[in-house]
Amino acid sequence: MRTVITGGAGFIGSHLCDYLIEKGHEVICIDSLLTGKAENIGHLIGNNHFRFIKHNVSDYIYIDGHVDNVLHFASPASPSDYLELPIQTLKVGSLGTLNSLGLAKLKRAKFLLASTSEVYGDPQIHPQREDYWGHVNPVGPRGVYDEAKRFAEAMTMAYHRYHKIDTRIVRIFNTYGPRMRINDGRALPNFMYQALRAKDITVFGNGLQTRSFCYVSDLIRGIYQLLISDEHEPVNIGNPEEISVLQLAKEIVALTGSKSKIVFKTLPVDDPKVRQPDISKTKKILGWEPHVSREDGLRNTWIYFQDVLQKTDDASVNKST
Ligand code: UDP
Repeated sequence: MRTVITGGAGFIGSHLCDYLIEKGHEVICIDSLLTGKAENIGHLIGNNHFRFIKHNVSDYIYIDGHVDNVLHFASPASPSDYLELPIQTLKVGSLGTLNSLGLAKLKRAKFLLASTSEVYGDPQIHPQREDYWGHVNPVGPRGVYDEAKRFAEAMTMAYHRYHKIDTRIVRIFNTYGPRMRINDGRALPNFMYQALRAKDITVFGNGLQTRSFCYVSDLIRGIYQLLISDEHEPVNIGNPEEISVLQLAKEIVALTGSKSKIVFKTLPVDDPKVRQPDISKTKKILGWEPHVSREDGLRNTWIYFQDVLQKTDDASVNKST
């Protein structure tokens, strides 16, 4: 199996590279390194089942030889990233998806789109099932990501229906774990950073908005199961255990024994009030459900972030001496 992963140096993409290499695939990772990081794939350099191409997939993608799978994971994915990179986010969701689908068509490869729970916007149906069409503000600041992914889904289904490409769409809910950028602006890394540095923990709004956090190894296993399934319609993958953002902040303070205090800041525009995947379809067609508890997942992530900050501190000490 020869598999192209766009966004392969990102948080989720790099875990997919590892997983597929373990499954015997030859992986070609394409990443512009705009939000992805070379460190995430550093351990794979020199592996003869791995190749890295630094390229922005919003521009034409050229790959020689045959390709069996194209997995399109390239995109800024944290709200603060896509607010800072609105045009790049729209381009990679539209032109990047078009180029990735074009590659799959040329090579007669299977195509898998990384979509998102953001296609449901600020949902009025709770929990979210795949047949819910969503509640998205197209002209709000989050619209650049939500609409790009909605367009990407439409484009994927068009290539499936018109060009008969063998496609998959995964709607990924909040995911966390090692290789998240500690400064990517999302709640979980922010809270861990703030706890580690004894800074105030910034809960936005009253903190009663909810999310459901899935550990990255569970997500990757689900994506693989979807890839080898026959399902062409979108499938939710996420952990249905729903908690409030305030509860998450409290759990992180308790886990880390931090002296940080929780403070409340303004809620960002169009911030979804609730989010929880309905995974009954996923369970039924993939036999998938998450295994990693939040307690274990948070602990592993905490160990990772401690290590990252330690290395940053060591590097700044070395620089100044
Ligand atoms: N959030 C927060 N404090 C932060 C960062 C985020 O309270 O420092 C909130 C954010 O407003 C949202 C939730 O946490 O309600 C999850 O935000 P995140 O950026 O992780 O991703 P989202 O689920 O909104 O895509």
